[in-house]
Amino acid sequence: MKTVHAKDSIKLVQSWMSDIDAKCREFLREVEAKENATASCRGCKKTGCCYQMVVIHLYEALPIAQRLRRDRRDTPELRLRLREAAEQMEKLDRTQYMNTCTPCVFLKGSRCVVYRDRPLACRTHYVFSDPDLCSPPSRGIRDILTLDVADFMRASAEFSAEFAYEQMGLKNLEEKIYTGVLPRVVLNVLIAWETEDMAASLRRMKWPSVEELQTKIDDLRNQGGNK
Ligand code: SF4
Ligand code: SF4
Repeated sequence: MKTVHAKDSIKLVQSWMSDIDAKCREFLREVEAKENATASCRGCKKTGCCYQMVVIHLYEALPIAQRLRRDRRDTPELRLRLREAAEQMEKLDRTQYMNTCTPCVFLKGSRCVVYRDRPLACRTHYVFSDPDLCSPPSRGIRDILTLDVADFMRASAEFSAEFAYEQMGLKNLEEKIYTGVLPRVVLNVLIAWETEDMAASLRRMKWPSVEELQTKIDDLRNQGGNK
């Protein structure tokens, strides 16, 4: 069985995330200049975007899990909160979830405690509308003007497959995809991290089928996107 080199994998993910950040900032500057507008996120102190459902790829959870372990924040209480948050997100659609006004597990006050390692959906989410529209309940959900970073997200999906299957020693899952809502995937990685063979452990876990994932993504897109 191929060994998972988690640390090497995480460095690769972090470097790739930095690259995405730089591209996103460049794209944002171009859009702002072209539209003569400033993204509302610049200087925003609101946290409405952290009350939304976020779907991530497996590799995005690796740096988050490493940070939680390093900071000794991987506690039974955190795992319980991750499990409960995951179950809630998995049974609701995006609008229903927004209406629960539930903050992300990683939001403390107005601060993201995994900010440096936050998922792609969070780091590529910029809006040009009133920050109040981002906030729960979802009264403004259809009026939010977001930066279209679809190309970055497509690149992420391609990288995900390559990363998961080649870098981590994970085999392709038949009709399943290594992805899910943020708290579920982070929880899965934390659990797998403690096992002797992380890749084998991750393979055995429950992952969504292609159809289930597509339904979730369609739901997110129809109701405002992944964030
Ligand atoms: S997405 Fe909305 S709430 Fe979040 S930082 Fe931007 S303007 Fe503020
Ligand atoms: S991971 Fe951080 S930025 Fe993303 S939704 Fe949670 S608190 Fe907000």
